[in-house]
Formats: sequence, C-alpha cells, structure tokens
Amino acid sequence: MDAAADVSTSTKEAKESESSIDLLVIVLDTNPSQRIVRQNPQNLTQILEAMIAFGNAHLMQKAQNKLAVISCSHHASNFLYPLPGRQVEVRQIDGQYEVFSQVEKTIKQQLGNILMNAPRLSAPCESLLAGSIGRALCYISRLQRNTPPGIKMHSRVLVLTGSNECSSQYMTFMNVFFTAQKLGIVIDTCSLENPVSLLQQGCDITSGQFLKVTQLDGLLQYLLWVFLPSPQMRHKLVLPPPPKVDYRASCFCHRELIDIGYVCSVCLSVFCKYSPICTTCHTVFKAPAALPPKGKKKKKTEK
Ligand SMILES: [Zn+2]
Ligand SMILES: [Zn+2]
Repeated sequence: MDAAADVSTSTKEAKESESSIDLLVIVLDTNPSQRIVRQNPQNLTQILEAMIAFGNAHLMQKAQNKLAVISCSHHASNFLYPLPGRQVEVRQIDGQYEVFSQVEKTIKQQLGNILMNAPRLSAPCESLLAGSIGRALCYISRLQRNTPPGIKMHSRVLVLTGSNECSSQYMTFMNVFFTAQKLGIVIDTCSLENPVSLLQQGCDITSGQFLKVTQLDGLLQYLLWVFLPSPQMRHKLVLPPPPKVDYRASCFCHRELIDIGYVCSVCLSVFCKYSPICTTCHTVFKAPAALPPKGKKKKKTEK
C-alpha cells in the first residue's frame, strides 16, 4: 500500500515539474571595492566562471527552465542576461548546446562593457544590492504575468556577493524582503565575506538558504550542492544548517545597526537617540518626565 502511494505521489510530482517553469535570477556583485576583488582582481573572473557554469547547470536540468543574470555595482545595476531585443552573435561550437555559449558570450561581453564604462572609484563604496534585488523582483513579476494559464512558475533569486554590511540600504532591503515573501519568491545568498546580517535576515524571511563560502576554489561545488536543487526539493537534502540570524535593525538617523533604540509609536521608525520630533513622520512627542540617564538605557553596537 505504502509503495503504491509513494509511486502515485512521485508521478504526481513528475507531472507537476513538467508543467512548471523554474526561473532563477542571479544577482552578481561586481563592485571593485569588495575585499575579495581588491585582494586579487582575478578573483572576479573566477567568480564569474563559476556563476556561468552554475547558471548553465540550472538550464540543463529542464528545457523549460529560465535564467536571468543582473550585475550590481556601486553605481548601477544592469541586466547581463537575457538582453532585450538583440542577441549576441554566437558561432556554433561542435558538441555544445547553443544556449550555453549564448549565455556565456552575452554575460562576458555585457559585463566587459559595463566595467569599461564604470566611473572610477576614489574610496570604497557600497554595492546597490537592495536595488538589484528589487529589479530582479520586478523582472520575475513581469514574467509571471506573461506566463500562459495552467503553467506554474517557481521563481527564486540568488545573491552572489563579497560585499560587507550595507546598513544604509536598510529600508530598501526590508521592503524588498517582505515583497518577496508576499510573492512567494525565495531569496538565497552565497556570501564570500563576513556574514551580511541584512541578507541573512532576507534569507530567513523568504525561507531561502544562506551560505558563507570561505574557499573561492570550491565556489562552483558549493553552488551546485546548495543552490542548484529547487527550494521544493531542499527538505529532502542534507544542507548546511541555517546560521543564527542577527535581527538588529538599523537606526534611521545614522544608518547603523543597533541593539536597543527608540521606536516612533506612529510610524515605527527606529532611532538610536531620543528626539522630540520624529524625523520620518514629524510626530511631536512629550519629553518623558524623568529621562533615564544617557548611556545606561541605550547601548550602541561596537563594530
Ligand atoms: Zn542613529
Ligand atoms: Zn514617526
């Protein structure tokens, strides 16, 4: 009886997977001020190669699968693949599926153009990760709207970054994460730097997977092992346990992550210092009769 039930569920799953599209959007951080790129610019090439091989592995799993790649830097985020309208000319290579060479050529050519035309950096600058994830969500929702009826589309976003804390984009990040959660889009993160707590929060909110890769040489293996299986399959696999998520919020006044702060009772803005007027919604507060001595109640985080 059990075996029969197993067979019927597996055929059901197989049928379901045939009529569904898996869309993977990769957000690749190409910011030259990432530590890993500053150490050795060659590392970016290695990350790019691993990312292309991973994207092609996703396309290889099923003919209906779709891939999109967005690059994200300190000044802009751009689509690397697919490009609207025109296609890059690709010469047929014997024995290789044309789509794979198409993906590789398009991404490399496009990224080359972007890096050549990028403004010079005088000081390290944050990557616009939150904006790029937002762009990925817009793209996903557009494709979802155009999906023919009867076909289900499972979408997810993979962020591949070596950037450190980006607390100045706190609000954008939170908006993006809760939108993704509402749309049922999983956000995964593969981090090449010290855990980025905001991205950890995003993975936790959207039930995605967070992984910190310490060895760049094994990047492709890690990507294939942890991020290739679709989120629906993951409960059947033994994956790295989720990290303990640091749920600190960043204050609206200095954009720094804080443990304890003041919260506006009207708009829920967070501040590290007491102020009589909320700078977000302009509500005026009565000063408490006896304000607790400064320094005792508030606690700033030390980096
Ligand atoms: Zn502050
Ligand atoms: Zn307020």
